[in-house]
Amino acid sequence: MDTFLNSFENTLYWILNMISFQVNWSKNYFWGLIVISFTIWMFEIFIPWRKQQKIFRKELGLDLFYMFFNFFLFALIINGVYALIGKKVHEYGLSMDSFTVINLKEFNPILQLIIFFLVSDFFQWITHITLHRVPFLWKFHQIHHSAKLMSFPVHFRYHWMENILYKPLKILAIMLLGGFEPEQAYIVHFVAITIGHINHANLKITWGPFKYIFNNPVMHLYHHAYHLPTHKKHGVNYGISLSVWDYIFRTNYIPEVDKYVKLGFEGDDKIPKTFEKQAWVGFKPYKRPKIE
Ligand SMILES: [Zn+2]
Ligand SMILES: [Zn+2]
Repeated sequence: MDTFLNSFENTLYWILNMISFQVNWSKNYFWGLIVISFTIWMFEIFIPWRKQQKIFRKELGLDLFYMFFNFFLFALIINGVYALIGKKVHEYGLSMDSFTVINLKEFNPILQLIIFFLVSDFFQWITHITLHRVPFLWKFHQIHHSAKLMSFPVHFRYHWMENILYKPLKILAIMLLGGFEPEQAYIVHFVAITIGHINHANLKITWGPFKYIFNNPVMHLYHHAYHLPTHKKHGVNYGISLSVWDYIFRTNYIPEVDKYVKLGFEGDDKIPKTFEKQAWVGFKPYKRPKIE
């Protein structure tokens, strides 16, 4: 209990220190998130891709709440749980170094960050595919896909279970890369948030020839499309920050037919509309509609 409470207290102080500017800008996730969000929102307002999309759309409040919930509030509880697991693992005499495959210690810091970014993005890509393919996990991921319009805060509109589901493979990635302190990866973190926000934004950005490396809002729009190609019924464009995995494994699909393409999935009308109810989706028996 002490371990849990200590971690809860530390996380709470971490959040309060960030809000009150006690934490340096380069490590301040709170104000960093606000500055990135505000900047992308301004682009959405002044140069929108879908001009008919309302700025103050119906679910804006819900999506913004998700952003702060998943980023900070949920961390209060889950960090305590992870502290407990870490303590147990330590008691069994295991440490992170026991699993190292590539030791990054010898590499220069920029290369360390790039390798960390690539490996962690690839592991998240695998997790994302799993969320689409395993019916039990898809129920949680449905909350993200229940968004009917794309805008930057949809990035963090996801079921709290996803925070947990993405973690094991992320930790595995960190374990395989020895000599690297993920806590130092603030740059990677801010880059990932910016790309994720842009991917969900109402902006037409394709990165030109770099589209084969970086994910973009056009590609991710079709990830959220209601109607998927029949031979890819589980999903397309699973990329998180990078699109390269989709091109390598042929899960890419960008028809560019309609920027107002219908979003969601079959049966999304059964998803509750409020946060409190959405938080329990996935735990109640719910019949997935058959995909023809
Ligand atoms: Zn998805
Ligand atoms: Zn998305």
